Amino acid sequence: MLEVNNINTFYGKAQALFDLSLRVEESEIFALIGSNGAGKTTLLNTISGLVTPASGNIEFLGKRINGLAPHIIVEMGISHVPEGGRIFNEMTVRENLEMGAYSSHAWKIRWGTLQQVYEIFPVLKEREKQLARTLSGGEHQMLAMGRGLMSRPKLCILDEPSYGLAPKYVEEVFRIINSLREQGITILLIEQNVRHTLETADRACVLENGHIVLDDICDNLLQSDHVRKAYLGL
Ligand code: ATP
Repeated sequence: MLEVNNINTFYGKAQALFDLSLRVEESEIFALIGSNGAGKTTLLNTISGLVTPASGNIEFLGKRINGLAPHIIVEMGISHVPEGGRIFNEMTVRENLEMGAYSSHAWKIRWGTLQQVYEIFPVLKEREKQLARTLSGGEHQMLAMGRGLMSRPKLCILDEPSYGLAPKYVEEVFRIINSLREQGITILLIEQNVRHTLETADRACVLENGHIVLDDICDNLLQSDHVRKAYLGL
């Protein structure tokens, strides 16, 4: 579904991603593991067009997407839920969700999509008229994910969806990620909770200093000495 080939990304003169390649297959959960500053967010931003790579190629469903504007990439079927959610605090829950359906196709079918989002996140239906700033941390994250679904993505990119959440919401986020995959949405995920992530995802790669050092199915990564020592504290 997604093929990233030999991407190099810079901030000014500082290189953040080095000759990086990966593939995400349709209907899988693919995770990026790595410590702070490894380049995970930069990679996601490069895929969704928020950051332009200096070289390399990114294809989504066989079409080149690097160099396209982010809103075109959303229309092609990639939705990016950024770290922290970035929701509009002074708008209602319903208005935030509708903002996710701004492409002309998604806008036409927004009513049906909204009902689906409310089925996945009943709390958003209960709170649809509330200002987003009145939501709890967990509800805020649900809203960010719900807004991401309003564009009817084929691939959903999630940047640390459980960051800072209470344990009950962390469980809920992982449950929802699984249910999105069951509905046919492919997931590209960054998560700090490495064990939980490797137990949930199908495949993952480990990013260190802008390089991919491991790329494998999660069962193998859970057994890897490097992953166990560096990321699982074993
Ligand atoms: P974290 O988990 O802390 O978000 P990360 O793995 O997502 O880390 P990135 O945020 O992608 O890492 O950062 C990769 C490198 O790029 C770091 O050295 C960071 O300081 C640098 N960087 C990130 N964003 C910018 C920016 N806007 N301008 C300059 N340098 C940046």
